[in-house]
Amino acid sequence: MAHAELLARHRAVMPAWLTLYYDEPIEITRGSGRRVEDAEGRSYLDFFAGILTNAIGYDIAEINEAITAQVAKGVLHTSTLYLIRSQVELAERIARLSGIPDAKVFFTNSGTEANETALMLATQHRRSNQVLALRNSYHGRAFGTVAITGNRGWSATSLSPLQVSHVHGGYRYRSPFRHLSDADYVDACVADLRDVLATATAGDVACMVVEPVQGVGGFAIPPRGLFAAFREVLDEHGILLVSDEVQTGWGRTGDHFWGIQAHGVVPDAMTFAKGLGNGLAIGGVVARGELMDAITAHSLSTFGGNPLATAGAVAMLDYLENHDLQANAAKQGTRLLAGLRAATERNEIVGEVRGVGLMIGVELVEPGGDAPSPRAAARVLEETRARGLLVGRGGLHGNVVRLAPPMTLTDDETEEGLAALTAALESTRQEMTR
Ligand code: PMP
Repeated sequence: MAHAELLARHRAVMPAWLTLYYDEPIEITRGSGRRVEDAEGRSYLDFFAGILTNAIGYDIAEINEAITAQVAKGVLHTSTLYLIRSQVELAERIARLSGIPDAKVFFTNSGTEANETALMLATQHRRSNQVLALRNSYHGRAFGTVAITGNRGWSATSLSPLQVSHVHGGYRYRSPFRHLSDADYVDACVADLRDVLATATAGDVACMVVEPVQGVGGFAIPPRGLFAAFREVLDEHGILLVSDEVQTGWGRTGDHFWGIQAHGVVPDAMTFAKGLGNGLAIGGVVARGELMDAITAHSLSTFGGNPLATAGAVAMLDYLENHDLQANAAKQGTRLLAGLRAATERNEIVGEVRGVGLMIGVELVEPGGDAPSPRAAARVLEETRARGLLVGRGGLHGNVVRLAPPMTLTDDETEEGLAALTAALESTRQEMTR
């Protein structure tokens, strides 16, 4: 079978740490709207959108036109040493959208590079290589970003160019502060931050990097206000705040354009990637001008902000605005969350259903307790696939099912996905309690 042969070739020529979903991994060959088709012609409703890269779905005419117009000019890329009109326009848009005063934008090809750049800016500006990050976080796969990543399952190396301390706050469900009220949880995390600053650092920390909602960490959502409370402490020490918006940007969280805005905080820098190009490789950092100017040597990304990616990204932002997709993310997300909570109320393998906008996590536990259940998550992935639905997986223990459908999701598709997931969760429960 062609599919089996491709899988064998993948395994032979690519590293084992490149994990693939499903017992029989999928090869996606087509996409339209919120649906994709595999090489065998099976159709799936996509509730993971390529880990949020296809923020608004597949085969969007306006984006296709913008890209093909660039292709028609015969120039996919020249060099970022020349002026690129769509790049300047995109930078202006993102600077304005950021809410950061005197903002400047630097483009990269990925979230990893965006975070590496932010780390370089902050450490250079503060002349310190000490960084704070959250436990259970994920920020990328290069030397600095692996070091700040708090999720050990994604830390490819334990060596580090930075001195990193991890604090509580991101993942409440499996923290010692789980059962506290929101206000007490925030107080406990602030106390932890103060303790780490006083006892585990040399006192001149450069920055704190946070995901407003932890993505790889299983769509873990801190209570609103946590980062405002953190910010007060950081300000006492002159520590910069960097918000990693790689998953939470572009209105996906529904009530705000950037995830950090739910906390009433304007960070010193934000990093972004994934959804901006709706499938094209683009990322970047938007930061206060003063911070961006910390670097005075030449520093260039060959492909970062190339004409093809920036033309596509401008079209994506237009589409997002013209169709008010942030509002749709709020609407469909609220519906999905409520539906899922109601449907799983008595499902004993569901420990928690949490979500904000179109980022919804289902924390799966072993029956009769709350031990993390990666086997339940694996099973739910197979069961949803069999029902024509793609979902994601995450969490420190690989036991969280993640939903992040394209922001163009319709009412009917929300119901369809909800029904398929509910049935998959129920059949997994039956299987595990037999
Ligand atoms: N930050 C976050 C929050 C992410 O989720 C990811 C990717 N999963 C990254 C950074 C790294 O992005 P990339 O894979 O594009 O390098």
